[in-house]
Amino acid sequence: DRPRRACVPTLKVRHMTQSSPNSLPVSVEFFPPKTPEGVDKLAAVRQQLYAIRPEYCSVTYGAGGSTQEGTLQAVRAILSEGCDAAPHFSCIGASKASVRAELAQFRAEGIQRIVALRGDLPSGYGGLGEFRYASDLVAFIREETGDHFQIEVAAYPEMHPQARNPQADLQAYVTKVKAGADVALTQYFFNSDAYFRFVDEAEALGATIPVVPGIMPITNSSQLLRFSDACGAEVPRWIRTRLEGFGDDKASIQAFGLDVVTELCEQLRSVGVPGLHFYTMNQAAPVLAICERLGLTPADAGLTAS
Ligand code: FAD
Repeated sequence: DRPRRACVPTLKVRHMTQSSPNSLPVSVEFFPPKTPEGVDKLAAVRQQLYAIRPEYCSVTYGAGGSTQEGTLQAVRAILSEGCDAAPHFSCIGASKASVRAELAQFRAEGIQRIVALRGDLPSGYGGLGEFRYASDLVAFIREETGDHFQIEVAAYPEMHPQARNPQADLQAYVTKVKAGADVALTQYFFNSDAYFRFVDEAEALGATIPVVPGIMPITNSSQLLRFSDACGAEVPRWIRTRLEGFGDDKASIQAFGLDVVTELCEQLRSVGVPGLHFYTMNQAAPVLAICERLGLTPADAGLTAS
């Protein structure tokens, strides 16, 4: 009942002999466009990114179902292009009946992976619904659909911003894994020590699923600082001050960002990670440039990304 379109990163490479550079699985994340022009632009971006042979593409979901149709449309398009695709799916504000209906639709559309999240309610949104945490959603998906779906969940090496403390957040993550998650995707970070400590501590508590680092290319300082403040990702002072020093000089920001993020990926790869998950922000060039520097671009892709 569970044939896979593409292989999943179930093999932990950490502490193992380094595999060949081109074998590190890569996945890419998009958000659903709001306009017809955005849909066309994203289709072109995907075609460019297929050159790095992503394991799958994921598509974000507005909590409360605000992007439901756009998410599904983008997922359908990706599947029709022959690439595996995973809708993000958040449970906050949802009823069990609505989640059940959506899972049935995912199955009918041939979807086999879900990124299962709690999400954040948009301000002004009504009730909390029948799910409190992502772990409730994971358990419900397993109860309703067995092992049909590969379930990916979020992990926060620098702690979820609403958590009481890092220990409570780690325990919440372990609960989510034990509810039936297969893989974790992290919030982005720029400090690899936070990631490795998180993985060690989670493993010590019995949560041994692959934890794929989320990678945010740096292309725009104000956007990066805004997002990071909102999601609790730390931008180290040395990166922040360098970015501020560049002012509006986009070329310098992008060159510096490419160096910093490529070095981070190198560090992660050298110690061993099960893959890299790129937050593309619906842009191809920054991810292609990083992958080209990392030697993750297949030789026959004919790319010159930079
Ligand atoms: P949870 O795992 O439920 O955790 C939420 C908070 O509750 C944490 O502070 C946790 O410590 C606490 N908690 C959990 N379980 C318990 C418990 N049993 N007891 C006490 N406390 C508990 N948002 C979107 O709206 N759409 C998206 O598409 C989307 N995609 C994302 C993709 C990734 C890879 C990541 C890392 C985040 C994404 N987000 C997305 C953001 C995410 O929805 C928010 O960070 C949200 O606030 C938490 O979702 P979660 O699934 O991590 O929640």
